[in-house]
Amino acid sequence: MIAATSKNKMIFQTVFFFLLLGIASILWLFWLFIGNISPSFTNYRGDIPFWANIALWEFGANFTVMPSFNYYDSLNLLSKLTPRRVWNGTKVLGSYYLSKWTGKPVQWGYPVSISVEPTTSCNLRCPECPSGLRAFTRPTGMLQTDFFRNTVDQLAADLLYLIFYFQGEPYLNPGFLDMVKYASAKGIYTATSTNAHYLNDANARKTVESGLDRLIISIDGTTQDTYEQYRVGGKLEKVLEGARNVVRWKKTLKSRTPYVFFQFLVVKPNEHQVAEIRQLARKTGVNGVRYKTAQVYDYQRDPNKLIPTIDKYSRYKRKGNGDVQVKNSLHNHCWRLWHATVITWDGLVVPCCFDKDAQHRVGDLKTGSFREVWHNEDYQNFRKRILMGRSQIDICSNCTEGTKVWG
Ligand code: SF4
Repeated sequence: MIAATSKNKMIFQTVFFFLLLGIASILWLFWLFIGNISPSFTNYRGDIPFWANIALWEFGANFTVMPSFNYYDSLNLLSKLTPRRVWNGTKVLGSYYLSKWTGKPVQWGYPVSISVEPTTSCNLRCPECPSGLRAFTRPTGMLQTDFFRNTVDQLAADLLYLIFYFQGEPYLNPGFLDMVKYASAKGIYTATSTNAHYLNDANARKTVESGLDRLIISIDGTTQDTYEQYRVGGKLEKVLEGARNVVRWKKTLKSRTPYVFFQFLVVKPNEHQVAEIRQLARKTGVNGVRYKTAQVYDYQRDPNKLIPTIDKYSRYKRKGNGDVQVKNSLHNHCWRLWHATVITWDGLVVPCCFDKDAQHRVGDLKTGSFREVWHNEDYQNFRKRILMGRSQIDICSNCTEGTKVWG
């Protein structure tokens, strides 16, 4: 009788423990996605206790980097959670911490988030973008709808978040919104990022009808001359017209999605307009503005003079001897590598969105299933390399993992 009681107690405690772990994982994933940040101890403070660092890190830091909280969008994201997705998120989180603490890569779950690339083509010529510069060594092409559906079918049960963006302009792919519709119908939160030059009336309506959850509109200036300094070849009026079309169709169709915001990449030529973009957003009727810091490849020379002078909007700092270095402390772990992945238009799997030319490809979905790729030797080796010395990997030494992306 006593043995049975203590056995019941143990079962109860185990169930209770996993329940708490599940709830903690939901909350954690929720904050990570809404704030679009990753956990790191970059800002570890030695002057306060460990537990206070954890509290600051988890809540204080996350609240400050969360660019703007949207109640409906947050609830919408939460509504996509299923027991299986929560369980998968818990396994991914557990794998990440175990790997980080032991230095040995383990992966028990599947991606919580993926980025797929509708196309590598783009209509603009932005100076820090390999697509804009036509500088890819990999081929240019369009993601095919059948291939996309097959990939989503393999991942949907565990997947919470799907970003239709890697390189290129998504709206150039004629099947893009049909793919969004397909993923939305599977209960996945869908997002995309666009230069908004193709949001004519018909496309705006189709965007709202597709079920897209989040629409990021890149707009890096409030006047044409400032805007085109980074968005080379772009027309500001077209962007604004596209945004207005989507806002109007949301009202007409009485839809709360997509959550639309302006993404303002802060660079030296536009840093004087950070206040004005808010007014423009209000006038246009979008849900908000987010300021993004810019990655500059050759940050030592900064040939296009893009690094802003306002420190909080820069990923780089100048040392006393004049050298420029990344602010990021480059710790040997990477949450992004554990919870997310990127698939190019032609099915290559790359570790993250910083591998723009797919130089570190870890698999090819044309020749194997996603589950095989996710656990294959190349993927495990890449995870191992991060744990051993992230600064030794070219893409990892100038990336945002562990630093502020949103200003
Ligand atoms: S570049 Fe490396 S460290 Fe940065 S997000 Fe990608 S895999 Fe992680």
